[in-house]
Amino acid sequence: MIKVLDSFVADKIAAGEVIERPVSAVKELIENSMDAGAHSVIAEIRNGGKSYIRVTDDGCGISFDEAETAFLRHATSKISGITDLDSIETLGFRGEALASISAVSRLTMVTRTPDSPSGTKIILHGGKVVSKELTGANKGTTVIVEDLFYNTPARRKFMKSDAREASAITELIQQYAVCRPDIRFMMISNGQTLFSTKGDGDTEAVIRTLYPDIASRGLIPVLDGSVSGFVSDPGSTMSTRRGQLFFVNKRLVSSSIIEKGLTEGYQGRIFSGFPAAILFIEADPSSVDVNIHPGKREIRFLRQDEIRNAVCEAVKKAVMTGAGIPKGFVKNIESNEPKSLNNETDRDASAVPSGEQTSIRDFLSRLERPKRKEPAKEEASGSYSAAYVSDIAEAAEDDYEAFSMPAAPAAAEEKAAAVPEPVKAKVPAPFDFEDLTYKGYVFDTYIIMQGRDELYIFDQHAAHERIFYERFMRGYSNSSHSPQPVLTSFTLSVSPDVYSMERSWLEDLRDMGYDIEDFGERTFIVRGIPPYMSAGEAEAFAMAYSEAAGESGGTNSVVRDKLIMRSCKSAVKANDRLSEYEINGLMSELAKCDNPFSCPHGRPTFIRVSSYDIERSFRRK
Ligand code: ADP
Ligand code: MG
Repeated sequence: MIKVLDSFVADKIAAGEVIERPVSAVKELIENSMDAGAHSVIAEIRNGGKSYIRVTDDGCGISFDEAETAFLRHATSKISGITDLDSIETLGFRGEALASISAVSRLTMVTRTPDSPSGTKIILHGGKVVSKELTGANKGTTVIVEDLFYNTPARRKFMKSDAREASAITELIQQYAVCRPDIRFMMISNGQTLFSTKGDGDTEAVIRTLYPDIASRGLIPVLDGSVSGFVSDPGSTMSTRRGQLFFVNKRLVSSSIIEKGLTEGYQGRIFSGFPAAILFIEADPSSVDVNIHPGKREIRFLRQDEIRNAVCEAVKKAVMTGAGIPKGFVKNIESNEPKSLNNETDRDASAVPSGEQTSIRDFLSRLERPKRKEPAKEEASGSYSAAYVSDIAEAAEDDYEAFSMPAAPAAAEEKAAAVPEPVKAKVPAPFDFEDLTYKGYVFDTYIIMQGRDELYIFDQHAAHERIFYERFMRGYSNSSHSPQPVLTSFTLSVSPDVYSMERSWLEDLRDMGYDIEDFGERTFIVRGIPPYMSAGEAEAFAMAYSEAAGESGGTNSVVRDKLIMRSCKSAVKANDRLSEYEINGLMSELAKCDNPFSCPHGRPTFIRVSSYDIERSFRRK
């Protein structure tokens, strides 16, 4: 039943001009269709919506008696009192969209409820009803909006070009289409079908059709409690956030809380740029405030940390699977590495003379002999890479043929159908090092391992750096580490400025477990090293740390972590050729890491190439 809200409730709802541009009218009409339980929604525009907008749905329709009421300000069937505002599950609730749109256009609505034999056609000009009559009609509602802002010329000048308005509308409908894969959407502009979706509930298929640039970054399924969707693999980022779409309770929102949770979920594995992500979050309607802005995009969470953690945990689980390993040799990945980062790492590498770098072999020699691995299990597993359709036009064309308004079956004719569950994606199993078999070693640096359907290329330095870093952080955070004496003490020679500057770095090294003392003549003598380092590592680390401290003019709690990261890199940098035995040791150490997927600087420790990619390169597929 459509009721007019009392003035108290009406005033509680932020007033504001809802209709600013054609896209705002389309948004309201589409949301009404979705609220009406439609399974099929067609949006047609001409001239970017300025001269013509049509939205046709197969939803519950409006009865003859209520047709006029729907156009009254604050007339809505969706809430009746202020208590309802806290538990809004429909998209619209202000009861002012139809009133606002009809006030600034020539509007025609044709509508029929399932239980009524005939439909209603009502025409309004500038908000005034000019005719209302019974008519034959399909079940559902069609709203045609012509000559938007014809009676408010001032508003017309805020509209952009036809093309800009059309693309804003197209983008909007694309967003609804991914959010509601159970609804068939069709978008027509100037007589041309731009796209349509099947309405079969397959989110991934909709993304591949409508967002090929996101799909090409590898869609890792996310499914954890109230958070579902897809994220890109950490190595395939975009240079902006344009690949990030967040939906809370099926409503597109922008939220820095969700952005933060997403970034944290990657755990430092983003080397540069922004991951692509399409995330659906279910939240208790009473814990979100959607009433901040009439456009309803900004969302406020009452329990921000809860949402942030939920997103972070869900993304973490997803990218910790094999699907989260960056793909090697894949085209179409934007190269957007920031110059500063490259420069810094280059400087890192050259900061320490190679003679002082620890041998990776020195580190490996201390490892226990690893167990021989079982051969990879042969059971079936999901392939993470699949072909994607990149040609929207082609896909839309195919869909167009399959698209027609469904003949509504009697049972479905009831009232607005319940919103279906989000489509469940299958989350691949966590990545398991046990599934890998050693296949080879190239350029004295890269280790080739074979998995089930993919081969993996490991960078021995990035891997060693990750292992050393985690061992370091574990050892360092241990409260007591008494130095382990070294058989032959060694000296550190530092530059004059490091020698003469305030020696906070020396205290840092002692905190880490070094037994180190001033030896005069710009040298320090080391008689004991941290128990969690090998002698070679300890020497290279101390050297790198003192130099880094010199460069940054001292240390404090803020720079310390940065210096440690840089020094870890120096401590493991070396070009050793490894034996198969040492490679196995490196692998089993890496497998034990909390985050075996990237070095502390965010570079991948290994990449993957699927058999599918290889076959495609040979034009077999
Ligand atoms: P709101 O959506 O905030 O309730 P609107 O002005 O958008 O306000 O719509 C007013 C009322 O008209 C809605 O509450 C709904 O009952 C009815 N209505 C609007 N569009 C449709 C539609 N496409 N199908 C069925 N009912 C509709
Ligand atoms: Mg509405």
